[in-house]
Order: sequence, then C-alpha cells, then structure tokens
Amino acid sequence: MAKLIDLSTDTVTQPSQEMRRFMASAPVGDLQKGEDPTVNKLEEMVADLLGKEAAVYLPSGTMCNQIAFRVHTKPSDEVIMHEESHPAHLEGGAIASLCQLMIYPVKGDRGTFTAETLRAAIRPNDVLYPRSRVVFIENTHNLCGGTIWPLDQLKTVCEEAKRNGIALHLDGSRLFNACMATGVNPRDYCSSFDSCMIALTKGLGAPVGSVLAGSKEFITEALRWRRAFGGAMRQAGIIAAAGIYALTHNIDRLCEDHANASRLACGLSEIPAIRIDPSHVQTNIVVYDIANTGLLPDEFMSRLMEFGVRMSSYRGTTVRAVTHLDVDREDIDVAVNAVKSVLMPSH
Ligand SMILES: *Cc1c(COP(=O)(O)O)cnc(C)c1O
Repeated sequence: MAKLIDLSTDTVTQPSQEMRRFMASAPVGDLQKGEDPTVNKLEEMVADLLGKEAAVYLPSGTMCNQIAFRVHTKPSDEVIMHEESHPAHLEGGAIASLCQLMIYPVKGDRGTFTAETLRAAIRPNDVLYPRSRVVFIENTHNLCGGTIWPLDQLKTVCEEAKRNGIALHLDGSRLFNACMATGVNPRDYCSSFDSCMIALTKGLGAPVGSVLAGSKEFITEALRWRRAFGGAMRQAGIIAAAGIYALTHNIDRLCEDHANASRLACGLSEIPAIRIDPSHVQTNIVVYDIANTGLLPDEFMSRLMEFGVRMSSYRGTTVRAVTHLDVDREDIDVAVNAVKSVLMPSH
C-alpha cells in the first residue's frame, strides 16, 4: 500500500533528518535556572521576530493561551473572542478550569470581527457584569478555515480595545502563514498586542512546543504560571533546537503549502456534490461541505482512507484538509483523485 497522505491537520509532520541532527547536537542546561542556551536562543529569536521584549518557550499552544489569560485576568473576568475560537472549543475547557474565566463569544466574518462588534460586547462598569478584560484574536483563524485578519481591521479592533483599557492577546499559532500569504511583517501583526504566541508544531514542522511573547513584566509573571501549570521543563534545549531549526528553514516554504491548498480547493470545486468557495482558501486550511453527497463525514473519510488519504471532520457535514511540509503537489493530485473516486466512481 502506498504511503498515507495525511491531510487531517498540519501537526502530523515528522522531524527531518537534518532537524534531528540539529536537535542531537544542541547545547543544553537547566531551563529553570535560565541556563539552557538553546532555549534562551529560541526565546530571543521569537521575541525579536515578533518585536516583543521577551518570550518564553512552553510545551504547547494551549499552555501559551492559558498562561496569557492567567496573567491578564482575575477569576470571573471575561475574554471577548470570536465564537469559533480555539480556547472556546479545543482547549479542554481550561479557560474555565485553570483560569476561571467567562467567554463572551462574538460573531463575524470567518473568524474575524469588527470594532463595532467589539464595542457592543464590552460590559458596562457595573457590579452586575463580569469585567471585560481581554480581547483574544486568532490569526490565521483555525476553525474558520485559515482566514487572515486584514491588518487595517485588526488595528481598528485593537484601538477599540485599548480605548477601553482591555488587554489584547494574539493566538498566532499560524501567524507565519498569514505573513507569507500577505507579505506583512510579523512585527506589524503583533505591535498592538500585549501578548502573542506562535506554534512551532503546525506549519513550521517542529515536534514540540510553542512560544509566548510580551513585555519583560508580562513574561516575568508568565514564568510564575509556567511553574504552577507544570510547564517548566529542564534540559528542554533538546526539543527547543527543533524550533530554532524550523524558524530558520521552514517559514519561507509555507507558500508551497498555500499553493497546495489552493490546488486542492480548485480540484474539489470541480466535484458537483462538494460545496466549496476556493477564494476562501487564503492559507493552508481547506474546509468544504459534503451535505449534498449523501455521505456522512465518517463514511466519506473511511472511503478516502481506502485510497490512502486522510482528512478530518470537526462538525456537521464539513470536512477539513490541511497542507504541510510532508505533502507535495503530487500528493494533492492523488487526494483530489481519491475524492473523485469516492464521489464520482465513473470519473
Ligand atoms: C493548535 C492550536 C493551538 C494549541 O496548540 P497545542 O500545541 O495543540 O496546544 C491554539 N490555537 C490555535 C489556533 C491552534 O491552531
């Protein structure tokens, strides 16, 4: 049987031989004493890339978001976010259990929202209400299909938050996808935010870790919560090295993932039973609807697996396919043909 073409998500990548060699030779030390030179270097690299004073390497993106919330808030405060945001659906409810926060979910075009929507969501200063304390923004937006926040819209939303004394946190798990697609510098996307995080394990292809960045003061507090949440490691340079390798070698190539996602979307749009708007595919995530195929997502995906192609379904009749550095253009053509074979057997 041919190799599996795994489009279920972009976290399935295998570290390359070069990345593994780089990891094996990384100098390490006790991170909690500030003595791991590789972790220190990764943190400096990310702080510099994002235009922040300091950064901290953490085991996961979820921990980055939760530590940021914990630093910016007190229990019972409220975080305003798009209704399809990652912490609302995919962080195991940690925003309630670890941070004791409320979510104020807002609607908006594919993961974005406007300054007017934000204004309407901000609570009056009255004991009746929780305090509006953080605005959370995802760029690109995961569950809405890899959408990029337009920079001018992002700025007006951030200005509205600042006018109201509300902290801003950026979930940049796929920030470099947005940067490569638009040419916007990561610093320009991050400049209005009090804290920002990036994932090393998505399109960048590292096996472990995310990095949270902000002011020196913010990071000092974050280190306390890193310890409390159990995220303070020891000789973590061995895994942080993969992050340095990924930032050095795997950012520019994200354009290939975007071209492959577009190619996939165009191929799928030729299949009558599939509902998709290829113009909505801005980065590496392709979401499409199979309601008209008469198949349930589980049936459809197990039929696809017979052709060695894996996709995923998050909700309802939508299917999600994500491109990454372990799939190439030929794999995309195989995937499109597999979908045609399942849905149009005589094609
Ligand atoms: C993957 C992801 C996270 C969390 O990352 P983990 O490392 O899986 O905890 C957070 N936000 C978004 C938008 C993500 O896609």
